[in-house]
Amino acid sequence: MMDKSIRRIVIVGGGTAGWMTAAPLAQRLARHPTQACDVILVESPEIGTIGVGEATLPTIRFYNNALGLDGADFVKKTQASFKLGIEFKDWGHVGNRFFHAFGDFGPPLAGSAAHMHWLRLAQEFTGMPAMENWSMPSVMARHGKFVPPNEETPGMTDAYSYGFHFDAGLYANYLRDYALRHGAQRIEGMIVDVERHPESGFVTAVKLRDGRRIEGDLFVDCSGFRGLLIEGALQAGYEDWSDYLPCNSAQAVPCAGVPELTPFTRSTAREAGWLWRIPLQHRTGNGHVYSNAFTTDDKARQVLLDALDGEALDEPRQLRFVTGRRRKSWVKNVVAIGLSAGFVEPLESTSINLIETAVGKLLELFPDRDCSPALADEFNRIMGMRYESVRDFIILHYKLTARDDSEFWRYCRNMAIPDSLRHQIELFRETGRVAIIDRGGFAEPSFVAMMMGLGVVPKRYDPLADRVDIRVVHGHFAELRDMIAQAVARMPSHRAYVAAQAAAA
Ligand code: FAD
Repeated sequence: MMDKSIRRIVIVGGGTAGWMTAAPLAQRLARHPTQACDVILVESPEIGTIGVGEATLPTIRFYNNALGLDGADFVKKTQASFKLGIEFKDWGHVGNRFFHAFGDFGPPLAGSAAHMHWLRLAQEFTGMPAMENWSMPSVMARHGKFVPPNEETPGMTDAYSYGFHFDAGLYANYLRDYALRHGAQRIEGMIVDVERHPESGFVTAVKLRDGRRIEGDLFVDCSGFRGLLIEGALQAGYEDWSDYLPCNSAQAVPCAGVPELTPFTRSTAREAGWLWRIPLQHRTGNGHVYSNAFTTDDKARQVLLDALDGEALDEPRQLRFVTGRRRKSWVKNVVAIGLSAGFVEPLESTSINLIETAVGKLLELFPDRDCSPALADEFNRIMGMRYESVRDFIILHYKLTARDDSEFWRYCRNMAIPDSLRHQIELFRETGRVAIIDRGGFAEPSFVAMMMGLGVVPKRYDPLADRVDIRVVHGHFAELRDMIAQAVARMPSHRAYVAAQAAAA
């Protein structure tokens, strides 16, 4: 039988997406004894990278673990800190604060989710403390503590999870070294042309400005917003979601490190968008995401600079984007991964997670040189669903606000939303239940934390919760709260834990 296996993969772009793609492909494919496959990455320092993706979801650990990265070494080399979730300030209304944790609100009781019992207690007794008092990661975050699950919390392994904050440039370098060590090749040069087969339309080579041609069987487009191959050559099309998510601009600036090394990202809503604060070991990452239809770049810059809690280390960097996704991210023998495939603002740190998912799916659905359209359809189906569920979850943050203090927030309150999200909000408002549309996306506790944090109090709760004796429910909540308090008291501070990891490397 004719050997149709892919022998040359060309990755276009060396930003976070390019190196996150190159590392596992090199690990799995480059040095196979009989079926070795060249993994070639082309990047142009002249163009540079976006380089601002610094906060992640817990799934980054599965990605790192699959590469066999040493945890302590990674923390040291990327100046990482640990992330238990996101603190939201001023989102529901000015003065509102809540935590979206990587974890739940305790185990179910008699088959009903913890938040259903909490709702029952809250209906019967006034002055119930906020539900996040029963969330282990929220309590840890409030006290600035960190330890991975199961070290100080035996029996509560599933109670929480964690991701990282890291320096995006250092992470890309870390993965680049890994990929090169595992057999990937790096070519520096500016791509000026894309060659395609006259009949099949498959991409056959990219041409560099100095005349070099880089041939390949499979091309991964990690060229960033420009989508050099997927859009430039193959015109996959772009679905624009700006009506749902009006932010289209960002400014980013690092500032000097501050004493408060929080184990969480902070997101503060402002008049025409929101600010992020991401603490790293050597500095703090800050940014302002906003809509330039509702404010000016100059005003946005000032809002950002005024909010810094350390000296700015640079001039703010201006970025512009169009929220949405490529209609198809796999077309013929080109697979788009990263910003070339789409972008939803970084409110829940989902971009790197979408890169992990795309790389994982590419390996799961790895083609031969024919690149069966059925594989592309399956990849596009899964990625399409994932991008849409992320989109809906982010829209929810804006739609449920009670803020009406600026034109921007009035627009968000009144804007039309996708039917899928309207259903999710209605179901929760009426019954406290969560409709999970994408099982690979955010889970029930995330929806509960966001909706209740933003002020939605369900009218009803699970009627089966009433079958449990109310004294048992009280006992359960009291016991859980004590257990969390005792466990958190024993934990080291986040700063101490980070220092110990960096020293152990
Ligand atoms: P880029 O970084 O743009 O890289 C593109 C690469 O393509 C570069 O190497 C460039 O040299 C190369 N290239 C392009 N054209 C050519 C050419 N003609 N010839 C040769 N090479 C070429 N994600 C998160 O998960 N968490 C966050 O907290 C987060 N925050 C963000 C904040 C903002 C404001 C923005 C805009 C994004 C954020 N993201 C975040 C997203 C994250 O930054 C990106 O997903 C990630 O950096 C991947 O980018 P990329 O590699 O796709 O593109």
